[in-house]
Amino acid sequence: SVTPAVVTVTGGAGQIGYALAFRIASGQLLGPDRPVRLRLLEIPAAVPAAAGVAMEIDDCAFPLLDGVDVTSDATAAFDGVDVALLVGARPRTKGMERGDLLSANGGIFGPQGAAINAGASSDVRVLVVGNPANTNAYIAAAHAPDVPKDRFTAMTRLDHNRAVAQLRQRTGAAVDDIARLAIWGNHSATQYPDLTHATIGGRPALDVVDDEAWVRGTFIPTVAKRGAAIIEARGASSAASAANAAIDHVRTWVDGTPAGDWTSAAVVSDGSYGVPEGLVSSFPVTASGGAYTIVPGLELDAFSRERVDASVAELVEEREAVRALGLV
Ligand code: NDP
Repeated sequence: SVTPAVVTVTGGAGQIGYALAFRIASGQLLGPDRPVRLRLLEIPAAVPAAAGVAMEIDDCAFPLLDGVDVTSDATAAFDGVDVALLVGARPRTKGMERGDLLSANGGIFGPQGAAINAGASSDVRVLVVGNPANTNAYIAAAHAPDVPKDRFTAMTRLDHNRAVAQLRQRTGAAVDDIARLAIWGNHSATQYPDLTHATIGGRPALDVVDDEAWVRGTFIPTVAKRGAAIIEARGASSAASAANAAIDHVRTWVDGTPAGDWTSAAVVSDGSYGVPEGLVSSFPVTASGGAYTIVPGLELDAFSRERVDASVAELVEEREAVRALGLV
């Protein structure tokens, strides 16, 4: 029998955790041949709610599920972990300064990085979803010196999928015909959804769209502000679509990108495209052999350059702030 993969979800009682846990337990994260041991990490106050989620998961009688554990102890949660989905985070509340937000999250993601460093399996892969996701991933990676840096990523796949959806709606193209879209920078309103290399059925997407005003005035802000629009409409933040993107991110990481296409993920920069080395920034990436690689050699036009630089400047500021706070 195959050893079960250990998959840990933090914030397992939260909205995204609730949408994610069932999909993982049913085999949608690692495929139909890989049994899963699911661990839900929660803060002590939310452990009873997470235990309720575990009861519901039990009640699905998923054949691939080896079992569900609920804990508030990071060391136990990450012992032997193969896939760590760091979803739980301290949300920004009214009147909260950025420094307070970063401090609160440093107190979560620093110890979690250390627990991953101490106990994770040698093939561990980490996806940070909890915001500010890029900088939380930066903090976690800084506390895990023995884990290769390329195992720490943050999620911009939802932004990527949102961009594909907007382009499909505008052009009527099939999703499978849309390729080479890219999200650059921070998972925040400064992100840059980039159509300049995108293709639709092999044709440049910008030729198919043929409307620069739509690209700059509608497409980019719609993608960047989609989260706020969903909160406005639903009265709650996006959850199932975020969970879906987390599944996509890990599946692509493991299974690879199709030939000729790429996806978007925030990965530790190697200095490509002028993004300072070590920052966790979104890039167009390919996946193969279980590794994400930044797509090399793309030309950035002046507008793209400006947009990438602006978002990266925000990441640099966040890095300076966490350094000043002694969080890394
Ligand atoms: P959600 O499950 O809705 O969101 C969790 C995190 O994902 C938030 O930081 C949220 O950011 C972020 N996120 C990133 N991308 C998206 C997106 N596209 N749409 C929505 N959210 C996104 O939050 P809940 O409050 O429902 O649940 C959080 C849970 O985490 C709670 O149960 C809490 O107890 C737990 N928690 C666990 C910790 C731990 O295990 N140590 C530590 C801290 C919290 P944003 O806030 O910007 O929406």
